[in-house]
Amino acid sequence: MNAHQRYLGADSSIDEADVVLVGVPFDGTASFRPGARFGPQGIRFWSDALETYSRPFNADLEDLKLADAGDLRILPADWQRAAGEIHQTVEKILQLEAVPIMMGGEHLITLPAVEATAAAFPGLVVVHMDAHMDLRDDYEGVGLSHATVMRRVMEKVGSDSLLQYGIRSGTREEWALSDENDTLISDIETFPDIIGDRPVYLSIDLDVLDPSIMPETGTPEPGGISFSQLHKAILACRGLHVVAGDVVEYCPIPGWGGPSGAVAAKVVRELIFLTAESRNL
Ligand code: MN
Ligand code: MN
Repeated sequence: MNAHQRYLGADSSIDEADVVLVGVPFDGTASFRPGARFGPQGIRFWSDALETYSRPFNADLEDLKLADAGDLRILPADWQRAAGEIHQTVEKILQLEAVPIMMGGEHLITLPAVEATAAAFPGLVVVHMDAHMDLRDDYEGVGLSHATVMRRVMEKVGSDSLLQYGIRSGTREEWALSDENDTLISDIETFPDIIGDRPVYLSIDLDVLDPSIMPETGTPEPGGISFSQLHKAILACRGLHVVAGDVVEYCPIPGWGGPSGAVAAKVVRELIFLTAESRNL
């Protein structure tokens, strides 16, 4: 096995792991730039550029029981099959009492992962960090798309269980829906008070970052947050019961991608530390 086949420090078996990474190479509904299917392998490659130790978490990947289950065997043109694979995989990892972290892939992959997580954890709250609302009812007539995923999630978990952060783009209707349901959180420090001890699914669409930091994404949107702001948002979730999550929409330039791969890999690393810490609370 070469270094690209496994995320940094992921040397546990799935059965003994506390946190399990899963690559989901699906980009079948990409509407602008496709290529997120290459995201998981790009993240694994760039993870080698990182340290295993995180100062803010005072934790080391080498000390965690971290597994990398590899990529799901899916076809980018076959959503039904992909959705089934994602659902079953998340269900199985949760049954093993581990935390599943999906590495996308485009954002639609979040829907079956949330469905499986919500079945195991009633009262699930979805925390959604993104440049885009993703609250369209349909996109060009298609109800299942990266642009509609949070609308479907909201229908699943209820409008009071979706919290959004970093959003700066959406249609007039999406903004109205968000305003009506008060989904947008501007002060990240208020997350713990709002969520309390409810279980959390954390979904991070990397285009929440400014394109100057994260150019390799399917739908770049100017005016985004910095890496330190995203990091602060992740740290604000410490103490929450984070039971599953994903990092989506890394769309590497052909080959092994450019240096924003290191950004994607580091966001995954911090989500690993967050969930590992949460699991042991
Ligand atoms: Mn998104
Ligand atoms: Mn987005």
